Amino acid sequence: MSTSQVVKPDHASQRKHFIFTDEHDQLRETIRRWAINEVLPHAAEWEQTTFPDSIIKRMGELGFLGLDKPVEYGGQGGDYYSSLVLAEELTYGESGGLAMGIAVQTDMAMPPILAFGTEQQKQQWVTPAIAGEKILCLGITEPDAGSDVAGIKTRAVYDEANDEYVINGSKTYITNGLRADLIVLVTKTDPDVGYDGFTLFLVPMDLPGVIREKKLEKLGMHASDTALLAFQDVHVPASAVLGQVGKGFYHIMWELQGERLIGAAGSVAGAQHVFDKTLKYAKERKAFGRSIGSFQVTRHKFAEMATKIELARSMVYTTAWRFQNGDYPVREISMAKLNAARIAVEVADECIQIHGGAGYMQEYGIERAWRDLRINRIGAGTDEVLLEVIGRSYDL
Ligand SMILES: Cc1cc2nc3c(=O)[nH]c(=O)nc-3n(C[C@H](O)[C@H](O)[C@H](O)COP(=O)(O)OP(=O)(O)OC[C@H]3O[C@@H](n4cnc5c(N)ncnc54)[C@H](O)[C@@H]3O)c2cc1C
Repeated sequence: MSTSQVVKPDHASQRKHFIFTDEHDQLRETIRRWAINEVLPHAAEWEQTTFPDSIIKRMGELGFLGLDKPVEYGGQGGDYYSSLVLAEELTYGESGGLAMGIAVQTDMAMPPILAFGTEQQKQQWVTPAIAGEKILCLGITEPDAGSDVAGIKTRAVYDEANDEYVINGSKTYITNGLRADLIVLVTKTDPDVGYDGFTLFLVPMDLPGVIREKKLEKLGMHASDTALLAFQDVHVPASAVLGQVGKGFYHIMWELQGERLIGAAGSVAGAQHVFDKTLKYAKERKAFGRSIGSFQVTRHKFAEMATKIELARSMVYTTAWRFQNGDYPVREISMAKLNAARIAVEVADECIQIHGGAGYMQEYGIERAWRDLRINRIGAGTDEVLLEVIGRSYDL
């Protein structure tokens, strides 16, 4: 190492994180360029219309929907980190709603089918989902049960004569629910046996009795659609069971870990993006004859935010490394998601403050990031639920 290298800090170095290779960096570059060229120009419009299904098709054609999925179903066969790269780089499109809809497709609905599905189910649903030809959603939450997953009421009753199940119930806040071709549905098959009475089903959304009742209006993530769904005497064959009958609760708890980790990665990336935009603004915006970034109070705000983002990122990457290497680190995934979501909301709020009135105006996109990022403290397990998971992991 030369003397100059020793005395000069390497702030500009790109290789700060051990989990990524040169291939990941190339993938990052490709997705970022695509997001800037093909998503960003439409982001404002999609806030009004929601994103079009064609963007999912396009992402399928580009191979973005199966980065870490097996090649036999049309995936790229990459590692878990490639999925993190997608979640991170999509932020450059500035369409939180699209990023959420995609995460539901790739990291929430597909993994349980791949993990627990039959070969036939994988061919039927994962292959076209990776190609962007079928859209998936995941139905856990109900009007009377969100955090308390075990409190769901949607019932699937077995009809032995016809070897089929009849499903009745309701699901709410379902992302992609208005456009999806398939729902991975959490039901109760035996209400008398506690956690052993749940079963997952793959339910095509065009079956008689599946009703898309309402598009729900929400604070942020306007580019995504969020639905209230009803299931009225929906008949599905026994072959629609996903995984084991009676093991649905454990299957969905497994699914939630991947959902939380990708949510954590998205939170960190969202925080970084709003930070970067605000940094640029703070260097340009003048007050009292100097850039607002040069006030010590503002400089310290950036220092605080950057430190929190970097800490959150390190935890996400370390946990992702364990996940990739076969661990199932529920406690650390919960910590990573809790922390990343909190700091993303905190950072977005501080970035509004640094922008002043501009932060409150739609044209700068900071208020949208603030609204969009707020979901991360609620979806995929609220802060309070995650604190429970972490606290209980110490046998308290
Ligand atoms: C935009 C959006 C998209 C979503 N997409 C989907 C989707 O695609 N699929 C899906 O299934 N769900 C989805 N959800 C639902 C989401 O997962 C739930 O909103 C979340 O799990 C919380 O459940 P809840 O809304 O019923 O709140 P509740 O469970 O009613 O919680 C209300 C409050 O009580 C607190 N609380 C609850 N239990 C405890 C406890 N034991 N200890 C302390 N505090 C507690 C909570 O932390 C929260 O503050 C989505 C939600 C939103 C907002």
